[in-house]
Amino acid sequence: MHRGTPLVHTSYDWSRSAWNTPIARILSIANQKGGVGKTTTAVNLAAGFALAERPTLLVDLDPQGNATTGLGVKKSGLYPTVYHAILGNEPVEKAIHETELKYLKLLPSDIDLVGAEIELVSVDQREYRLRLAIESVTKAYDFVIVDCPPSLGLLTINALVAADRVLVPLQCEFYALEGLTQLLQTIRLVRERLNPRLAVAGIVLTMFDGRTSLALQIRDEVHRYFPGEIFNTVIPRNVRLSEAPSYGKPVMLHDLRSSGSVAYLELTGEVLKHE
Ligand code: ATP
Ligand code: MG
Repeated sequence: MHRGTPLVHTSYDWSRSAWNTPIARILSIANQKGGVGKTTTAVNLAAGFALAERPTLLVDLDPQGNATTGLGVKKSGLYPTVYHAILGNEPVEKAIHETELKYLKLLPSDIDLVGAEIELVSVDQREYRLRLAIESVTKAYDFVIVDCPPSLGLLTINALVAADRVLVPLQCEFYALEGLTQLLQTIRLVRERLNPRLAVAGIVLTMFDGRTSLALQIRDEVHRYFPGEIFNTVIPRNVRLSEAPSYGKPVMLHDLRSSGSVAYLELTGEVLKHE
């Protein structure tokens, strides 16, 4: 590694994340670092499943509501949202929206969800609210994908408690591995105390630019620390991926032939292969 010192010291037991167990039906996309490609991955993986005609629900669990906007649903005046489903006893069915893709539905979020981090502290079964809220609808879907906010607060804990698998997007930049130890520790604690079925689906490298030696070094380092835990598919930096949300579309409906679209379809295939 370019700095010579290990960035990650972890005793995390990866054996539980072996590929030979059945794939998650509920897949949470988590990394407390901001801007690493969680939402882009959540939206486009969900769209990939939907294009494969697998009924999929995308849950936007981030108060920023980027996945909601990214699928073309307007946030202003939305009611009910995921917030009301987890804290207001609104039936989740009422909050689910159609999208442009027949097989893809959205449970949207809006800024109200900011309050949820605080409100959850004092409610019963505070770590289980999402799991309980979506329980009645999960059987209607082959996959439920949860887009997490950039924190390890109660919203992300709720996503980990609801999930079978957690997928970790990692941006190949200088501080990429910082925070990963803490994330893996949180995943381990959730598995021990709250959700024994939780496993790591793997790490997906995002916004990869193979022309920079730093990106290549980070990629090698991640492979060294987490051998066998990284998806073969690497998501390249691609302008179509950053444009698509402003059209309210997954990248496949914006530019099917773009390298971003091809990469997310490949990732979809990789996840489905291990179903
Ligand atoms: P946050 O932590 O704020 O929720 P995030 O982890 O969800 O962020 P994204 O919103 O998916 O990250 O991505 C951050 C920004 O980078 C966005 O503007 C997005 O459009 C852009 N982006 C993500 N992936 C790529 C990519 N592969 N190529 C180019 N731009 C990308
Ligand atoms: Mg996001």
